[in-house]
Amino acid sequence: MHKDKPIEEIIKNIEDKNSFLVVAHENPDGDAIGSMGAIYYILKKLNKDVVLFNKSNIPERFYYLEFVKNINSFLKKTDYDTVIVLDSGELSRTGLAIDNLKYECIINIDHHVTNDYFGDINWVDPKMSSVGEMIAYIAKEINIELKDKLAECIYTSIVSDTGSFTFSNTRPATLRIVIEILENGFDLDDFNRKYQRYWTLNKVHLHGLSMQNAKLYLDGQLGIISISKDMLERTSTTKEDCEGIINYLRVIKGVKVAATLREDDDRVKVSLRSYGEVDVSNIAKGLNGGGHKNAAGGSIFLPLQQAEKFLVNKVEEFLLENS
Ligand code: 5GP
Ligand code: MN
Repeated sequence: MHKDKPIEEIIKNIEDKNSFLVVAHENPDGDAIGSMGAIYYILKKLNKDVVLFNKSNIPERFYYLEFVKNINSFLKKTDYDTVIVLDSGELSRTGLAIDNLKYECIINIDHHVTNDYFGDINWVDPKMSSVGEMIAYIAKEINIELKDKLAECIYTSIVSDTGSFTFSNTRPATLRIVIEILENGFDLDDFNRKYQRYWTLNKVHLHGLSMQNAKLYLDGQLGIISISKDMLERTSTTKEDCEGIINYLRVIKGVKVAATLREDDDRVKVSLRSYGEVDVSNIAKGLNGGGHKNAAGGSIFLPLQQAEKFLVNKVEEFLLENS
């Protein structure tokens, strides 16, 4: 094993083997979907058999990526040479019933600091903007050009996970990949029409309601928006429409930790954001979750109002310990 060079082991595996199962985390975001598409186009170019799996329905906003019609939510075939797991800190995040499958090797490609190295080959690099960026390096290494549908998938990953190049995970190397994509003729105007313009009026109303519910705690260091099932019902929206609500808190002056709590069937789903040295992945680990330093999430198994109090206490303890 070349422990220092997992990318080479990964390339050897995808060149040598024939049948691949590619999976990413459930409730997929732009990086989960973009990185699946990117590896799909690479494997197809190498004439490999590829099956794509995601436990969740793919949000309609990503239908502009043509390959998503090939993602399955259940598996007919159970026998593969290699299972490639993307953007998932733990195998359980995929919802894949791994015990029901036959395979030789699991490849884990991820950029979460909290990754638990569940694979046989693990390429985990928290400095990477996105898993899509990592797949771009695989493509480059085997001389596949970053253009057309492959480029569209990689760009989706990068733009999603960097908050359109505003988060600190946007490195010079990330932008060099983007330069290459643009030099190969990527149409930004066309892309943004598809990527940005997908909101419904109901979603606008949900966001309005959520903004009205924003609260500050801990002398303004913690911002919270709680989203009840009732709010979704009143605006005829779904959990997918909650995406982005957390960003209204991040722009309030003085806020160090931003949090949304969304009431779900059996739990409250927590999202956390921070700036700079405040490492919210540590808070998330205490909430059955994980993530990145400045963007993480988890779950609290309490009613919504109690969950909010519980989180305020957790964040207070955390800020005291880390001040
Ligand atoms: P979001 O708040 O957008 O759902 O997630 C932010 C980040 O935290 C993502 O990178 C996501 O992978 C991670 N994250 C969110 N929820 C969970 C969770 O329940 N478990 C783990 N391990 N990571 C999570
Ligand atoms: Mn990601």
